[in-house]
Amino acid sequence: MTEIALPAFPVEGGCICGAVRYRITGAPLAVYNCHCRDCQRLSGATHSMSMPIARDRLQHLRGELVAHDKPADSGRTVRMLACARCGTKLWNEPLASPAMLVVKPGTLDDPSWALPIGNIWTASRLPWAVIDETQVNFPGQPPDRQPLYDAWSAATT
Ligand SMILES: [Zn+2]
Ligand SMILES: [Zn+2]
Repeated sequence: MTEIALPAFPVEGGCICGAVRYRITGAPLAVYNCHCRDCQRLSGATHSMSMPIARDRLQHLRGELVAHDKPADSGRTVRMLACARCGTKLWNEPLASPAMLVVKPGTLDDPSWALPIGNIWTASRLPWAVIDETQVNFPGQPPDRQPLYDAWSAATT
C-alpha cells in the first residue's frame, strides 16, 4: 500500500516566468495520471497529472491568466487556465463541476509529495507508458472520481 506524506499546508506554486503564483490551503482530493489523447497533445508526452481540489482551497495570488476552452469527450467544457505571459498551464476548471478545480501538480514549488494513485484513459496509453496494475485504473473517463478520491484518502491517512 502506497503511503503519501502530505505537506504542511498552505503550499504554493506558479508558472515558469514567475508572474502567476497560487496557494493551496488544504489537501487535494486526489492525484492521478491521465493518458487521454488531449493530455498527450497538451503535454507533448505520454500523459499528464491531474490534482482535483475543492475550489475554495486554491487562491490565485497574482499574475494574469488566459483561458482556453476545450470540449471534453463527455461533451462538457473544460476551461484551461495558463499564464498570459509564459503559457504555463496551471489549472483547469471543469465548467460542469464548479465546486472543484484540477491543478497541474507539476507547477507546485515542491511537487515531490504529489504521487499519483491511479490512471485514467489507460486504453489510449502509449505502448511504453507503464501502468501500475495494483492502482485504481480506468480505461476511459471514470463515471465518477470517487474511487480515485477513496484511494487517495487511503494512501494519505
Ligand atoms: Zn508565467
Ligand atoms: Zn487527459
